[in-house]
Amino acid sequence: MPYGFTSKILKVDLSTENVEIKKFDESFYRKFLGGRALALYFLLKELKPNVDPFSPENRLIFATGVATGIPLPGMNRYCVAAKSPLTNTFGESYAGGFFGPELKFAGFDAVVIEGKAEEPVYLWIHDGEVEIKKATHVWGQKTKKATETIRREVKDLRARVAAIGPAGEKLVRFANILHDMKYANGRCGLGAVMGSKNLKAIAVRGTQKLEFADKEKIVELAKWAAKAIKDMPGPHSRWKYGTAAVLLPLNELGLLPTRNFLDGEFEYAEQISGEKMAETILIGRKGCYGCGIMCKRIVRGKHPYETDPDYGGPEYETLAAFGSLCGVSDLNAISYANMLCNAYGLDTISTGVTIAFAMECYENKILTKEDLNGLELKFGNADAVVKLVEMIAKREGIGDILAEGVMRASKKIGRGAEKFAIHVKGKEVPMHEPRGKKSLAIAYATSPCGADHMQSAHDTLFERDVKKILPLGVFKPLDGTYLGSEKVRMFMYLNMWWSLFDCLGVCKFVVTPHPVAVFSISQLRDVVKAATGWDITIWEMLKTGERAITMARCFNIREGFTKNDDTLPERFFEPLRSGSMKGEKISKKEFENALKLFYEMMGWNLETGVPTEAKLYELDIGWISNFLKQVK
Ligand code: SF4
Repeated sequence: MPYGFTSKILKVDLSTENVEIKKFDESFYRKFLGGRALALYFLLKELKPNVDPFSPENRLIFATGVATGIPLPGMNRYCVAAKSPLTNTFGESYAGGFFGPELKFAGFDAVVIEGKAEEPVYLWIHDGEVEIKKATHVWGQKTKKATETIRREVKDLRARVAAIGPAGEKLVRFANILHDMKYANGRCGLGAVMGSKNLKAIAVRGTQKLEFADKEKIVELAKWAAKAIKDMPGPHSRWKYGTAAVLLPLNELGLLPTRNFLDGEFEYAEQISGEKMAETILIGRKGCYGCGIMCKRIVRGKHPYETDPDYGGPEYETLAAFGSLCGVSDLNAISYANMLCNAYGLDTISTGVTIAFAMECYENKILTKEDLNGLELKFGNADAVVKLVEMIAKREGIGDILAEGVMRASKKIGRGAEKFAIHVKGKEVPMHEPRGKKSLAIAYATSPCGADHMQSAHDTLFERDVKKILPLGVFKPLDGTYLGSEKVRMFMYLNMWWSLFDCLGVCKFVVTPHPVAVFSISQLRDVVKAATGWDITIWEMLKTGERAITMARCFNIREGFTKNDDTLPERFFEPLRSGSMKGEKISKKEFENALKLFYEMMGWNLETGVPTEAKLYELDIGWISNFLKQVK
């Protein structure tokens, strides 16, 4: 029995109903660690280039990492990946919760799905077995009803069910996947890929125990972490206010995205803060497998926006996307919009940014009341936001155009709407302002899956002190607004470090350098060592992160993406209109220099953006060079 993983990967072809189990040896796991890198291995090996993301040929991969399921805080995440229908790039999205560990307890490290079922189906994976079951009766249902029905059918109310809602069925390009109605693989439209395969859900349940090389060390770390969570201020603030603990500090810094990224400060920030939620609609807190930080919210919104607590509550991204970004100060309405997204299966970030885009179009008379089924879509109109969420999910009226995401919608609307579409490679920009956290300019531009705030830790953490990241070779604090060579170097190492987490299946909140972090950099190495028995080093771990970044880059190059796609919306080269960062912008020259330097540091060709053959061999993925030769 291997340590820390099951060594089994389940392959399901929904067209033929063929199921097979692939076994991989220890060297495969040590090289890729799982999650992001494992998913990329299958996408690069099995998916032909330029396949339509909605074609049966697309692969949909649920992949855990070697850390997923270790009984320690934050060791619970898994990756869902496919070619994204939103960006046409590598699509990836991560969730914590309980599904990933349960998949491993059921006997599998990953599930690779191809084909398209003739009729709607769901997968029931339990203790090494897999069944393809009819789902015609749950097709069309919201995630809660579908989850409850499936649990009853498989006669296991503790089954973890990852389901799509009506939005995924209708191929909304930013539809997501929810497990247990509140843990979302939110970004990149992977729920729509699931819908295109007629796959309503995957239910998992297992009783198999994972074996670890050094159980005593895991127990010792668990005891230490339980005490640390109680004693440290960071985890406590997340327990108290959730991820929304950052909303007011960001507003103070002038970095709270407001009115479609025109402003950096929201005059009603307090009304949508984590503190306000705790005082008003919060009725409970939830954690993920093994994690006592419990940063997830359970809310009950009040009249006229009563919400169902089974759908959880809004996180920071959601509060900002439906709140400040749309100019909305009604916490109940935001919670209701969050519930609708979880019920219909929509990514809250893309949905909020898409609505804010439509609002700016309305304010500039590009969209009128007639175009919007009578909605007066001014910034601040909470009722209109709620109405639009449902219209997008159902593809009704203007919702049908907006369901395509801001890049496609703006092209369809025309009349100058493109300048209000805040996206990179088609993915809507998340709630972090690159004009004040300038490493995000490189992160958003070079992220393999379009604008994404989880590619690297943010600048504001390292303005005064870098003690925690000394083991990564970063020695000097740097200002958030600086975008010179030292920032590029800092970003590069942090980018590799967070890419590693996506391979391991580790929550980015619990390991240094996040302010909530429980574990230090060397403790994460100890965790992996204790679980697997490998004498792994921080260098080897960083290299795995870099390997995954490079593999994702190669996937996109093969799909026809070039250096020219590594760009930012024009808005970020313009000054912020308000807040303490008023007037701050990204200089085009600085941005171009930073990108150039980053390419050189990463071993990517300066003209084309293609990783060099030498870099591929250095990372022991030389086999990828064969198909890259054809696109050079
Ligand atoms: S910190 Fe929050 S998101 Fe991360 S594992 Fe713990 S409860 Fe889940």
